Amino acid sequence: ADEPTSALDVTVQKKILDHLHMLTDSLGTAVLFITHDLGLAAERAQHIVVMYKGQVVESGPSLEVLQHPQHPYTKRLVAAAPSLASQRIISVKEHGGDATAVMEHAVNEDSLKKGEAIITVDHLIKEFKLPRKKEMFKAVDDVSFSIKKGTTLAIVGESGSGKSTVANMVLKLLEPTAGTVTYDGRDISGFKGKELLDFRRHVQPVFQNPYGSLDPMYSIYRSIEEPLRIHGIGDKKSRAKRVRELIDMVELPESVMNRYPNELSGGQRQRIAIARAMALDPDVIVCDEAVSALDVLVQDQVLRLLNDLQAEKGLSYLFITHDLAVVRQIADEVVVMQHGKLVEHATTDEVFDHPKKQYTRDLLDAIPGGKLQLGLD
Ligand code: ADP
Ligand code: MG
Repeated sequence: ADEPTSALDVTVQKKILDHLHMLTDSLGTAVLFITHDLGLAAERAQHIVVMYKGQVVESGPSLEVLQHPQHPYTKRLVAAAPSLASQRIISVKEHGGDATAVMEHAVNEDSLKKGEAIITVDHLIKEFKLPRKKEMFKAVDDVSFSIKKGTTLAIVGESGSGKSTVANMVLKLLEPTAGTVTYDGRDISGFKGKELLDFRRHVQPVFQNPYGSLDPMYSIYRSIEEPLRIHGIGDKKSRAKRVRELIDMVELPESVMNRYPNELSGGQRQRIAIARAMALDPDVIVCDEAVSALDVLVQDQVLRLLNDLQAEKGLSYLFITHDLAVVRQIADEVVVMQHGKLVEHATTDEVFDHPKKQYTRDLLDAIPGGKLQLGLD
């Protein structure tokens, strides 16, 4: 079984793997299970073999490998596996060569309750007309929440639950059927001209597939410079300086400037997409499955980068994902969606420690490796 469930929601993944287990168990079939998710490997296999650059670097009983990884690569994999992480990433910044934790995370319960909202979504509804159907289809059904300044709100739910539709309404790429989106206290529905341009400047998207959102004919330099040029910021020289800063900010070498998207790896492309989104110094970034296509090590790097940028610049994130394990690493608050409806909204700790709805519990139970007690932190 070669990555048989990697593209699936956790709940569907669990169903399929439980079924596979039931069949192979009753038939006495041996399974060679190939995955990039260590948590999943540990949960589903008795024996793990870790490969790196074409070679086996470690092998042994699953729990043994996870609890006492020997090879540096295995150690990195264990540290990065989202399904094994138990807490939010803490941003650490260098201070005069001394690594000091600048902030546990700027966000605490207090700022979540009393903090000022940057985006508010109020009784949002989106209906679509389906072909050959009389009644309209409600993709988003009465959803309300707000994102506090400098915090991350995650929307989770199975595919088709309406997450992207909400994101696209927040980005004003899609008009709501009813309800409102407010940005910094102003209803965005009436934005046009200068106000709309201003909104576009401050609320930026990062999508799942950077290969689709970066123009293949544009050099990396041109892709990052484009938003600056469109918004008429600086002259040629100051823009060139800014592009260099942005490439440095996402920790890529300056030499990527002259390359094209197809010459970069998936993780590098996603960094470029983040650099482009950061070009105009936004307040809000909407990440729609922005790390879902990346392997765990690269995913971990990008999540850390997003966390560092938030700590540095006070950015707010609307973070959309079908992967609850990632949520634990990045979000302050979680909205759970099912069939277009908001079924639960609470702080990340509350959702993970005391989920109120059965649907949320099902999502949590389906996280691979979630029940393994590894004593990792
Ligand atoms: P998610 O991002 O949670 O996977 P989406 O927001 O993309 O879900 O979609 C929610 C539902 O709305 C799905 O059933 C999808 O098929 C439907 N949908 C999304 N966009 C359109 C559209 N333009 N026309 C018709 N149906 C749509
Ligand atoms: Mg989506």
